[in-house]
Amino acid sequence: MQKINSALNKLANGNQFKKRYDELKKEILEDQQIHEFLHENSSIITSEMVDKSLGKLYEFSTQSKKCDKCPSLDGCLNMMQGYTPKLVIQGNVIDLYYEECPRKVMADNKRKREKLIRSLYVPHDILHANIEDFLQTGSPDDRNEAFAKALSFIQKYESGQKPKALFIYGKFGVGKTYLLGAIANQLAEKQISSLIVYFPDFLRELKGSIGDNTVNEKIEMVKKAPVLMLDDIGAESMTSWGRDEVLGTILQFRMLESLPTFFTSNFDFKELQNHLTFTQRGEREEVKAARIMERIKYLAEPIELSGENRRR
Ligand code: ADP
Ligand code: MG
Repeated sequence: MQKINSALNKLANGNQFKKRYDELKKEILEDQQIHEFLHENSSIITSEMVDKSLGKLYEFSTQSKKCDKCPSLDGCLNMMQGYTPKLVIQGNVIDLYYEECPRKVMADNKRKREKLIRSLYVPHDILHANIEDFLQTGSPDDRNEAFAKALSFIQKYESGQKPKALFIYGKFGVGKTYLLGAIANQLAEKQISSLIVYFPDFLRELKGSIGDNTVNEKIEMVKKAPVLMLDDIGAESMTSWGRDEVLGTILQFRMLESLPTFFTSNFDFKELQNHLTFTQRGEREEVKAARIMERIKYLAEPIELSGENRRR
């Protein structure tokens, strides 16, 4: 034992070690951020403190700072993934603490926002829809108007008013669903949660679950969403049950409770009314269709989106 210790001591005190130590110290002190930190705190930091803290300074120099060496959050190179080191003075040593790196902060915020947007049967990419991108495509006139109306809705809703939502109609592929996603994202930034439902699939699923008692539960969930967005209304094959028991029930509740309800449709009001008048069986039920239309008009203001079909 004695022998090993003395051998180590010899090595530690030996020229080789000293040389390696000095080289390393020089490298560490040449690190630009360390250099700046020492410079900024030169009135406090002594060379003794530097020697004592060399281990921490070395650790600092090996870590990626503010994501500068990392390809992505998953590819974070640091000891603690998603954390970036900072130098601080603690008494008479220099120490490190780790704080969340910018990419982690961004990813956490995004996750929080996405939690606020729930969707049923809507393509996932819609959840990334962005209001600025929406403005940059298609015809500026109706985009600006839709944008202004969407913003005005958000502002009023946020301030506790009960604004009308939008009935966004227009041809296939012009970006109606995309606009819903963009509005949902804007709302999420204000911590307001919304539910986007692709209506034809919702009806299909309800029909499929008639036997298993979950129909009411599913209708309840949609009925009570703080902000509901019914996507592609009119594209479903409508039955009188879907119209009166499902759509009618949902809209009646939302109207009474003043819960904002957005719609998108390929049809304008008149065409939608016609669609709702003739159910699959070919019966003509004008009064019932008119009742649904009344609720839709009460809940939402129509706005047409034009432009080209962006779907390939
Ligand atoms: P609609 O609902 O009117 O049929 P969508 O909203 O589904 O049309 O848009 C069609 C396609 O174009 C989708 O893939 C959508 O993600 C994309 N898209 C629409 N508007 C934009 C936009 N402003 N920026 C980027 N992609 C868009
Ligand atoms: Mg759509």
